[in-house]
Amino acid sequence: MNQHQSRQQLWSLLDQEWDLIIIGGGITGAGVFRRAVSGGLKTLLLEAADFSSGTSSKSSKLVHGGFRYLRSGQYDVTFESVRQREKLLKQAENLVTPLGFVLPYKASNKQRRMVHTGVLIYDLMAPKWQHKHLDRTQLSKIMPLLSPQGMAGAYLYYDALLDDSRMVLRLIQETCEDGGVALNYVHAETLLKSKEGRVCGVALADRSGSQLGTLEVKARAVINATGPWTDCLRRQLGQQARIRPLRGSHLILSSTDLPISHAVTLMHPKDGRAMFAIPWEKRTIFGTTDLDHPFPLEQEPFCTNQEIDYMLEAIRAIFPETKITDASIISTFAGLRPIVRGDANNPSAESRAHLVLDEDGLVTITGGKLTIFEIMAEDALKAILPQLGKPLKPIQHWFKPNPVYSSDSPLSRERFDYLVGRYGQALPDLLNTSRPQDLQNVEGLNPHWAELPYNARYGMVEHLDDLLLRRTRLGMLLQDGGLNLLEEVKQLTQPALPWTEEKWQFEITRYQDIYQKAYSPNPENYLKQEK
Ligand SMILES: Cc1cc2nc3c(=O)[nH]c(=O)nc-3n(C[C@H](O)[C@H](O)[C@H](O)COP(=O)(O)OP(=O)(O)OC[C@H]3O[C@@H](n4cnc5c(N)ncnc54)[C@H](O)[C@@H]3O)c2cc1C
Repeated sequence: MNQHQSRQQLWSLLDQEWDLIIIGGGITGAGVFRRAVSGGLKTLLLEAADFSSGTSSKSSKLVHGGFRYLRSGQYDVTFESVRQREKLLKQAENLVTPLGFVLPYKASNKQRRMVHTGVLIYDLMAPKWQHKHLDRTQLSKIMPLLSPQGMAGAYLYYDALLDDSRMVLRLIQETCEDGGVALNYVHAETLLKSKEGRVCGVALADRSGSQLGTLEVKARAVINATGPWTDCLRRQLGQQARIRPLRGSHLILSSTDLPISHAVTLMHPKDGRAMFAIPWEKRTIFGTTDLDHPFPLEQEPFCTNQEIDYMLEAIRAIFPETKITDASIISTFAGLRPIVRGDANNPSAESRAHLVLDEDGLVTITGGKLTIFEIMAEDALKAILPQLGKPLKPIQHWFKPNPVYSSDSPLSRERFDYLVGRYGQALPDLLNTSRPQDLQNVEGLNPHWAELPYNARYGMVEHLDDLLLRRTRLGMLLQDGGLNLLEEVKQLTQPALPWTEEKWQFEITRYQDIYQKAYSPNPENYLKQEK
């Protein structure tokens, strides 16, 4: 983040001519920001709400090739994603970590051959030979809860896991250290046009509550990286909609009720859709759905009761030995895939490829997925080069190299790896400014108490939900969103946040409201109560 400057100081920097303004602070905007600043461009990133608060905090947390895209023949999408996965495992060590996936098959030889061919292609694309066959006995050892009914064996293959929000935040933070300027809670309201009718800037408005007002800012190029909201800006240019927002919901379950050591891919018993169970942050994530989203984009998406029932039905069929009930659901979350509209009836059949558009000087980058953010950034910047009239310098590193573990670290190796992936070169600063007693995990989970005051001071936190849902993921991981820990959270972060008692009360009410309507185990019930 622009760690050592106040919001007012940052706001006063905005009124100058930029090489590039990026609208949208999800993974796509953060990737473009990283590449543009490392390429030598004077760049401003604007995010209407919090960084990563759109789709980029609500993914399945995978850096993956997209095994299921092989089934629909999207070989190019899978190939570039598998290659990116391999790069990110090295570039973002400990933030992106290897994850074994179990892919069972039923007794038929045809199904076994299909699954085997899939994992072979996957490994050939990497290229890395790491898949393994598991017979029935090995399968039941590795995945004892899986229904043995009809399962003849499985293949074990590898993808990777990440914390999606922390990846966005780390990219933005490291880019700000290199001279970029990024502001959350600033909405790009209107595109400004030159006399020739080309987009040459934006009229923006502060939405932070600091009442900084509005401003017109000029740039040589403007990139639209607004994910599911892509068409809102394009409409200002009279363009037809190109995005089909598809909702994907997940359940976060107690890992005591559904303990798994590996991820598992299985088909929903009703419609054959591929579903995942993924071990994440000492919890189990189950998902995802893929549905057209009829709700307004201004409303935070939520997991509907129907989706919850659909996912529980799959869990009970796939893991019959578990005693999963509604009470096993710790939280839910839903995100909107910014899918480029094709002609498929079935949402899951729509292509996951990305799209670059240049319309009256506004370059739009959309579609794709988190895994390929580097490719998307390069493609978006290629499209603005004619406007800039100068080439980009090559990029040194997408992520700054992590500090190395030393035996006199106050952290165990495991905790160091967890924190260094999320904070990179900022970790020594986090450790130096933390009290030893705060270097403990919160409620036996992975996040540390020390992350709360550190982010409150340096993480551009405007609201309590920024801190609990994205700087840390405690709001999704703790029962009741951690509402019973709010007093501790307040005590730890109060010295770093300039909030009055009245503001604290406002923040707690706001957090409860967001949690209940978009993250609780039954958001639809809260929404119905409100009507
Ligand atoms: C359920 C689900 C699971 C997924 N799982 C995976 C996965 O495991 N791996 C993977 O690689 N991909 C996954 N994806 C895809 C991936 O998450 C998305 O492709 C990616 O996060 C989109 O990022 P984005 O930056 O384009 O959009 P977003 O993250 O939505 O960011 C757009 C931002 O623009 C901001 N904005 C909008 N309008 C304005 C404005 N006028 N002014 C300023 N800011 C504005 C919004 O507030 C928002 O923060 C998944 C997607 C979903 C929905």
